[in-house]
Amino acid sequence: MFAADDTIVAIATPPGRGGIGVVRLSGPEACRIARALIGRRAPLQARHATFARVRGPHAGPGDPGPPRPVDQVVVTAFPAPRSYTGDDVVEIGAHGSPVVLESIVRLCVDAGARLAEPGEFTLRAYLNGRIDLVQAEAVADLVHAVTPLQARAAMDQLEGTLTEAIGRVDRALLDLTARLEASLDFPDEGFHFIAGDDVAGAVRMLEADLASLAEAGRRGRVVREGALVAIAGPPNAGKSSLFNALVGSARAIVTEVPGTTRDVLTERVDVEGVPITLVDTAGLRDAADAIEAEGVARARQAQRIAALTLLVLDAARPLGEEERAMMAEAPAASLVVLNKTDLPCRVAEHDIAGAPERAVRVSALTGEGLDALRRAVVAALGAVPEHRTRETPAISNTRHLTLVDRARAALARGAEAIDEGATEEMVLVELSAARAALEELTGRRTTDDVLAYVFARFCVGK
Ligand code: GDP
Repeated sequence: MFAADDTIVAIATPPGRGGIGVVRLSGPEACRIARALIGRRAPLQARHATFARVRGPHAGPGDPGPPRPVDQVVVTAFPAPRSYTGDDVVEIGAHGSPVVLESIVRLCVDAGARLAEPGEFTLRAYLNGRIDLVQAEAVADLVHAVTPLQARAAMDQLEGTLTEAIGRVDRALLDLTARLEASLDFPDEGFHFIAGDDVAGAVRMLEADLASLAEAGRRGRVVREGALVAIAGPPNAGKSSLFNALVGSARAIVTEVPGTTRDVLTERVDVEGVPITLVDTAGLRDAADAIEAEGVARARQAQRIAALTLLVLDAARPLGEEERAMMAEAPAASLVVLNKTDLPCRVAEHDIAGAPERAVRVSALTGEGLDALRRAVVAALGAVPEHRTRETPAISNTRHLTLVDRARAALARGAEAIDEGATEEMVLVELSAARAALEELTGRRTTDDVLAYVFARFCVGK
């Protein structure tokens, strides 16, 4: 990938104006370059904020004056190895003007630094053993978090909860491997240091540990990546009203004439910490005119790709044939939302037979039942409820899930091999495949491709 022994520089704060902006340097020349910028001979005091002036380059022959000040700054040096990257790091806090920050970066480059690639500071932290790959990915997740729950899940991962869980499995695997290898030295005695049944049992237990990690991970992924939730139902059931109530603004057009929600409206909302893209679909019915027909087609499409469908029915009217058909045809992942509970209810329990546990009663008008609906949505999506995220290490991405699944599969094959009376060597092959997958996850064993994939998600300056 990139060289890891030169000095890199980047603006670490987001693009645009701000009260302050930070330029970050990392590498062997970081302190020298920072001192050159502020014209300081003495070394910078470690972890100590130093007020200074950054001066521009010496003026050219046409402009004989002294170098002009660029900005007043606060310079803080974090000498290796106790820094974010593990190298010498200097942070220059300037006024948050893109023009000022860019000229400071340019001065650093003139003094010998190289512009950092996206994620390169974190890559160095990983290469220097300050954090593992899972934690590096957590940094990117934290930076990209759009709901507080996402931020917390990323923070847990940064603190090493997943690393710790994987570490426990890996240590147990190492222990088993060592015992199997030892028993190889006594070929006549079979599984000498540990009975075959015990090995199979131990392998199965580790497989179960990984399975529950993967399961928690699939739930965690909903938190991380969000989900598409479609609102469907017959005309006038209150789909637009529900959409508005959940979004908390009056975006969708509400009308009393059936069939007037003609388009597919989407809005991203935070539902119990899960980022949800809510799609209000046009009234699903045989559309009379072309524009509406197009809306209906798109509504069907949205339902097909949605992770969950909310089938909204008007509870103030007895269910008709159309409603029953819609319930029968609803995708497996759906909730029946009985709307208008502020009016006398005309839908009996037996009307929603077969799916009472999927039914939620709400009034989009008064807001009654909406909290219960939000909880039901999160539960139906299988997302980890907010209060439980602390207990479950979140596997945050597909890369992790794939590797945990690969390790699981190897362990399953290993356990099966033992049941079938395989030799230690054959079992060892599977255990080592499982360990390889886990090591790739934490980054103890990686390739440039994996690193390029992981760090491509970062922004410059992180
Ligand atoms: P859509 O066609 O399914 O999108 O339905 P709308 O959201 O346009 O609502 C149809 C009609 O039902 C409007 O007159 C709404 O004011 C009314 N409505 C929607 N939700 C409720 C509710 O919870 N209670 C009552 N009383 N009326 C509602």
